[in-house]
Amino acid sequence: DNGLSEADPEVRGIIEKEKERQFKSLELIASENFTYRAVMEAVGSCLTNKYSEGLPGKRYYGGNEHIDELETLCQKRALDAFHLDGKKWGVNVQPLSGSPANFEVYTAVLKPHDRLMGLDLSHGGHLSHGFMTPKRRVSGTSIYFESMSYRLNESTGLVDYDKLEEMADRFKPKLIIAGASAYPRDFNYPHMRKIADAVGAFLMMDMAHISGLVAASVLANPFDYCDIVTTTTHKSLRGPRGGMIFFKKDTVLGVDLESAINNAVFPGLQGGPHNHTIGGLAVCLKYAQSPEFKAYQNKVVSNCRALASRLTELGYKLVSGGSDNHLVLVDLRPLGIDGARVEKILDMASITLNKNSVPGDKSAVVPGGIRIGSPAMTTRGFTEKEFIAVADYIHEGVQITIDAKRAVSGSKLQDFMRFVTSPEFSLKDRVSD
Ligand code: PLP
Repeated sequence: DNGLSEADPEVRGIIEKEKERQFKSLELIASENFTYRAVMEAVGSCLTNKYSEGLPGKRYYGGNEHIDELETLCQKRALDAFHLDGKKWGVNVQPLSGSPANFEVYTAVLKPHDRLMGLDLSHGGHLSHGFMTPKRRVSGTSIYFESMSYRLNESTGLVDYDKLEEMADRFKPKLIIAGASAYPRDFNYPHMRKIADAVGAFLMMDMAHISGLVAASVLANPFDYCDIVTTTTHKSLRGPRGGMIFFKKDTVLGVDLESAINNAVFPGLQGGPHNHTIGGLAVCLKYAQSPEFKAYQNKVVSNCRALASRLTELGYKLVSGGSDNHLVLVDLRPLGIDGARVEKILDMASITLNKNSVPGDKSAVVPGGIRIGSPAMTTRGFTEKEFIAVADYIHEGVQITIDAKRAVSGSKLQDFMRFVTSPEFSLKDRVSD
């Protein structure tokens, strides 16, 4: 059997180009990271060949003795990495990614058209938390369940818990979702628990963005207050692309969470687990218990703070005024430009970040901000000094965008810029991921 270079030079070539791009660019997308070589080895291994529907010891196919050992090890490491007592908490490591993990939870604890509340997409929430527009139910979550989003207080940039409480009291959701894709602060779990209890709702945290920070105890612990915690495994956690669902080993609001969630994953929504991913995840969760991992996560936060304070010094308005985690959200509207143009210009200079809605945006199509994250470049060894330089590069990019906007007004290039900010162009990318 041939290796990739011989079997398919075309795909090999594309991989090489992507590797070069990743190597040469400043990767500032808050949801991305560079995983470990050992994780990539496991992901590229023979584990991909095996079917293993079911759970360890309860499979629908033979030949699973090693896969059982692997999945059991992965589950144990997942609980250990998040400091959980295996008598009180369980975990399913089979979700194919973050969005499927969330939908699996919804189908486990809700009936079709039950109500749920998550953070609005334009205020930093994720599509899978129930996004819909006044005209269209966009995500499967809002198609199959009734969704009402809570929002930030636009003047503070913080989750408006009082308003959430008021809305929950009227809407009576069965599930409240904490967690976000573009929120620079931590969540107030005690307050959310109180709100959920008052209306008889489950409380779930989607810690996809911050699971590395949670494992390292750099941010508050959602497990102290939530019934269910989901996560992706490839963001701050630094693992392979995948997902996990943690659940209390308990009956909550009449639902046995362990069996409901396991059944929702398989046979409810998935078939055979991706064992190569589970192998990579087990490796990543071993790293996640090391002192080096904790030091890395502390650096992710201190680097982000350095970036935030330099941007503030340069006169930028940051949503919520700063950051407690791995990302900052810059509001570009006071400068008369939008995030789409800045993203495009910085891309030309190999600085990769994404346009993002900021609270109060008139349109999600031409968002007024950019989201900048520190995990990936911290993995590559950047310190606060380099992140201060990154802020200066971004500032230059913004100045060039402002000048370019001025220069092209009335020219042919303006058509191009119009395209960049047009619905077709903007919708091709997600508002945030
Ligand atoms: N949840 C949150 C908070 C996210 O930010 C994301 C993706 O960025 C997801 C879920 C979905 O993860 P995936 O893209 O792996 O489906």
